[in-house]
Amino acid sequence: MLKKKLKITFKNKRLTIDLVIYFLLVIVSTAAMGRHHNNYILSVAVYFFAVYTISGYRYFKSFVLLPLFIITWIYLPIGMVYGSPNIGMIASLFDTTKEETLEFLSNIPSDIYPFSVALFFLIGIFACRKTSYQFKSHVPLVIGLICLCLSPYKNLLYGGYDSVTDYFVQEKALEDAFSHKVNLEVQHVKPKYQNYIVVIGESMRRDYMSLYGYPTKTTPYLDTANGLFLNGYISTAPNTITSLSRTLSLSKGLTYEPSINFINLANSAGFKSYWISNQGKMGVWDTPITKFAILSDEEHFLKNGAYDGSINYQDSKLLPLFNQALAESTQQHKLIVVHLMGSHPEFCQRIKHDVYGLEDKQLSCYLSSYREFDQLMKKMVESLKMTKQSYSLMYFSDHGLSNEHQKDQFVYMTHGSYHKSNYEVPFFMLSSDSHQHQLVKKPVSAYHFLSLFSDWTGITSEKVAPLSIEQINDKNIKVFNFTNMVNFSDLAPDPAVKISR
Ligand SMILES: [Zn+2]
Repeated sequence: MLKKKLKITFKNKRLTIDLVIYFLLVIVSTAAMGRHHNNYILSVAVYFFAVYTISGYRYFKSFVLLPLFIITWIYLPIGMVYGSPNIGMIASLFDTTKEETLEFLSNIPSDIYPFSVALFFLIGIFACRKTSYQFKSHVPLVIGLICLCLSPYKNLLYGGYDSVTDYFVQEKALEDAFSHKVNLEVQHVKPKYQNYIVVIGESMRRDYMSLYGYPTKTTPYLDTANGLFLNGYISTAPNTITSLSRTLSLSKGLTYEPSINFINLANSAGFKSYWISNQGKMGVWDTPITKFAILSDEEHFLKNGAYDGSINYQDSKLLPLFNQALAESTQQHKLIVVHLMGSHPEFCQRIKHDVYGLEDKQLSCYLSSYREFDQLMKKMVESLKMTKQSYSLMYFSDHGLSNEHQKDQFVYMTHGSYHKSNYEVPFFMLSSDSHQHQLVKKPVSAYHFLSLFSDWTGITSEKVAPLSIEQINDKNIKVFNFTNMVNFSDLAPDPAVKISR
């Protein structure tokens, strides 16, 4: 009797040890697969149950669970820092140079090592220990395998598979874009400046800039900087892809001709072109714009994957690359395109400091992103002056945003297409020969961009008619609202929210 009792306790003890090991394995490997799990407790419970049941079958324990744990252990340093697999990781894996891979690895913080060591030992114990129980029926196995499919492995394996297939789709799209590298039969090339800079901003509304009259000083440098500032520039469309594809290439509104674009124009004229970007290189939202970038002689993206990938860089990280492009010695005229992350939601992620500290955090961060942009412009102009070469820097934002807030509530700013503010963007040119701050108030549609670019750079091609701001006479501007061309003047007003300080 005593012997039997002892045996049961012993068996219970072995089972308890098994369960403790499973529990630790589940907790550590869930952490290894990334931070973002909806319903953490439920997914851990499902995962635990799967490990418990599948371990009751020797074969499945060795050939299903064990390999999965080993994959998880290999993935742990990446998963704990960057989360579940995404296209950025895959692109980093396939595209980057050895130095970038080393940088990727050196970014892994050392506090992850204990987890890695712990998981290593747990897997070792799991592999060597004989499970204290065995199931005979197949029912628990089927349930266990279903639970495994619903466990955090869902994100790791499906996410990994999706990212790899998506990567190849985007890569193919970029390869195809090379066929747009055409010579635009340039007739005359008479550039006024040595270096041309096009800075493309992001989600910046004109009315939140003190430059255009916002009462809070959001753009102290630009407020008095020498240059031509246009008050009345209207973007072609309300989000990055729709706007930039219609701005940077020849467009009649609904459609556009991708091969007739400003990079091909500059290349055809013998300019050396650079594309420096803090937006994503690859992803559904990024690849369409990257198609322009890869036509450039040199391209550099801070983010290999999508714009909202796991690593977030400040726009100021583009400065060294910008300086490098400026410093490169060449007889050619340069066109340097700088694509900012700017004031894209989420605003608080874009900035180094919240300079306003408002109770309305979103607005505070949004306005702070303007301040940082203003500083960036100042620094870029300083770099340009240092070269002692003539220059002209053109800036515009791809589109604006809507204030979607109710009365007496905090500002909620988001992409939209029904408001004037979705299209009212800043446009200015800071040149080495501008000696005064000139504010020009007139409506100009961004559909003229290619003509403006042609006039600015002195590149004339049969495909593009050059037009200066003075020559443009826009009466009834239309914008693309995701589906149709609509009258800008018919859109609803959406004034900037003022802050009291
Ligand atoms: Zn945008």
